[in-house]
Amino acid sequence: VFQLSVPLNFLGSVYRELRQSLLDMETLFNLQKVNVAVKEPKDVKPLLLTGGEIRFENVKFGYRPDRPILKNLSFTIPAGKKVAIVGPSGCGKSTILRLLFRSYDVQEGRILIDGQDIRDVSLESLRKAIGVVPQDTPLFNNTIEHNIKYGNMEASAEEVRAAAKKAHIHQSIQQFPDGYDTMVGERGMMISGGEKQRLAVSRLILKDPPLLFFDEATSALDTYTEQNLLAHINSILKEKSRTSVFVAHRLRTIYDSDLIIVLQSGEVAESGTHEKLIDRAGVYSELWSAQETSLDSSSDETNYSGEG
Ligand code: ATP
Repeated sequence: VFQLSVPLNFLGSVYRELRQSLLDMETLFNLQKVNVAVKEPKDVKPLLLTGGEIRFENVKFGYRPDRPILKNLSFTIPAGKKVAIVGPSGCGKSTILRLLFRSYDVQEGRILIDGQDIRDVSLESLRKAIGVVPQDTPLFNNTIEHNIKYGNMEASAEEVRAAAKKAHIHQSIQQFPDGYDTMVGERGMMISGGEKQRLAVSRLILKDPPLLFFDEATSALDTYTEQNLLAHINSILKEKSRTSVFVAHRLRTIYDSDLIIVLQSGEVAESGTHEKLIDRAGVYSELWSAQETSLDSSSDETNYSGEG
C-alpha cells in the first residue's frame, strides 16, 4: 500500500537529493553504488582548503560489516603532491576515492582534508573541491559541448575548446558529424572509451578543482595517447600545484609520482617513491618487474589512434 501522505518538504529534499546526485554524476563512479545515507550535521561549515592535504587515520570500512575492505588504513597525501594508490584488484583503491567523496562514511577512524574531518563540512563544499575522472564516465544525452561544459556551466565556447585541446580531444571532436554540437550519450553517437576518458579530462580541466582524482582514468587509451595526455595532466598539476590521487594498475603511468602508496589486504603494505620502493625489493618492486617483463613481450603497444 502506498503511503500517500508523504510530507511535501520530504519530497522536496528527495528531489534536491536526486538533483544533487545528477549534478554530481561526473563524479559518481556508479550511480547504483551511491549511498545517500551519509548525513550532514546541522550548521555545517564549508570545507576550508589551505593546501589540499588528505589524511586517512585508522580508517576501517566495508560495504558489508562482515566483510571489511579497508582495515586500519592510515596514510597522508601531502598538499600539492601527485600521489598514486596501487595494489591488487579488489583491494579497495576505488573505495578510497568513494570515501573521500563521501559516497559512504567510514566505520572507524577518520578522513581529514586540511585538518577537517570530512563529516564536519558541507557535502556541497566537499564535492565542489573534488574532480574525478572515473573508470567509466557517464555521458549526458546532450551535445559534446554540453558534456564538457558540465565541468563549468559558465565557461565560454573558447574555454570549452581550449580544455578539449588540452585533453587531446579537440581534433577528434572536429571530425564528429556536427562537431561540438554532436549528440552523444545513450541516444546519441557512440564514442569510444578513450574518447570518453578524454572528454572527462576536458571536463575536469574546465572545472579546475583543487583536488583531483583519477581512477584508472587513462586505461582505455592506447599507450601513445595515454603518455601524451598524462604529460599534459602532469604539467597542469605542476603549474597549479594541485593535490592529485591516481588509482592505477599499470605502474608505468604513475612511477613518476611524488609518493606511491601500495595497498594490500586493506592496509598500506609499503609507500615511498618509485626508486625507494624498487630498492626495498617488496611488493611494488615485484609488480614492477612483472609488468615490465610483460610489456617487453607484448607487441600490441604500437597502434595508436589519438591526437599528438
Ligand atoms: P580494481 O583495481 O579491480 O578496480 P579496487 O582496488 O579499486 O579494484 P574497489 O572497487 O575499491 O577495489 O572494491 C573493493 C572491494 O569492494 C571489492 O571486493 C569489491 O567487490 C567490493 N565492492 C565494491 N563496491 C561495492 C559495493 N557497492 N557493494 C559491495 N561491495 C563492493
